[in-house]
Amino acid sequence: MEQKFQKQLQQIITHGAFFENEPMSRHTTFGIGGPADIFVDVSSADEIRQICQLARSLEVPFFIVGNGSNLLVSDEGIRGLVIHLGKSFSEVERDGEIIKAQAGASLGKIARVALDASLTGFEFAAGIPGSFGGAVSMNAGAYGGEMKDILVDVDLLTPQGEIVTLKAEDMDLSYRHSIVFDKDYIVLGARIRLQPGQEQEIREKMDQLARARREKQPLEYPSAGSTFKRPTGYFAGKLIQDAGLKGYTVGGAMVSEKHAGFVVNHGGATAREVRFLICQVQKKIQDKFGVHMEPEVRFLGFEDEVVQ
Ligand SMILES: Cc1cc2nc3c(=O)[nH]c(=O)nc-3n(C[C@H](O)[C@H](O)[C@H](O)COP(=O)(O)OP(=O)(O)OC[C@H]3O[C@@H](n4cnc5c(N)ncnc54)[C@H](O)[C@@H]3O)c2cc1C
Repeated sequence: MEQKFQKQLQQIITHGAFFENEPMSRHTTFGIGGPADIFVDVSSADEIRQICQLARSLEVPFFIVGNGSNLLVSDEGIRGLVIHLGKSFSEVERDGEIIKAQAGASLGKIARVALDASLTGFEFAAGIPGSFGGAVSMNAGAYGGEMKDILVDVDLLTPQGEIVTLKAEDMDLSYRHSIVFDKDYIVLGARIRLQPGQEQEIREKMDQLARARREKQPLEYPSAGSTFKRPTGYFAGKLIQDAGLKGYTVGGAMVSEKHAGFVVNHGGATAREVRFLICQVQKKIQDKFGVHMEPEVRFLGFEDEVVQ
């Protein structure tokens, strides 16, 4: 990577940090992924804006990563820059029923703030292992709730370098989709509105959902959660199970025996193996049931276009 780029990056980053050849396996819940040329841990909206501006001006490709819980990064890694929105960019504030958080805040941290303030409505998200920015971008959801239900508005960085605030209704939020991916926006932070509730009830609901996850999901193995989106009229896990693919293995990658909707890293899986397994599952389900299985997991650093 160009010396010039690194020098200028150094001047922009005042509080954050950047690393060369950083293994992405450290930053994905799959525990898979080769090195990113440069990995920056950012700490402010202005830093993000300046870094993007610099990368664009020097034509350095860049990618946004939150907690890496919905990502498959290639074994070759990422040529260019990874901008990580994590702990260094994770302030959470509450004002009455409104919680405002920076994009790097974990959903777990926001859930604790909601619980401490006896606010209900965020319980569904407490066990999702993503960052707030990732959850807003993906319109993450579980157990009958989704980000769309609670979002008030979102602070975004546009590709033109402007910081704008969009109301939730203008975010084009639908099942695991938002305007963020269509417009190349970066989520900097957002506000959610919750409702007054009973602390004990909120805690019980969170505990109950955490138990349900532990019982049903293969949390003992690294994964990126549900591998596929729910095809209209079907359940991904049920289709995969009905196709006899539970336990189907390619190298270290496996269709979980506990929940067929999850591809897990059963031990030392490569991205190539996971991707091949995903393609095989798609092909078999297409042949057997005529249903297209669109991956929910997002692919980063693959040279050839991945069919979503
Ligand atoms: C065990 C397990 C259980 C899970 N359960 C659920 C569940 O119940 N429901 C659910 O919806 N998901 C679930 N997931 C998937 C995942 O946690 C969510 O999709 C989460 O919202 C992703 O957030 P992240 O910060 O990890 O995003 P990443 O994986 O880092 O990124 C995902 C995508 O969002 C983009 N992105 C991330 N941050 C930003 C930002 N600030 N601005 C713009 N783009 C951004 C990235 O570029 C990438 O394209 C689960 C995952 C695991 C491992």
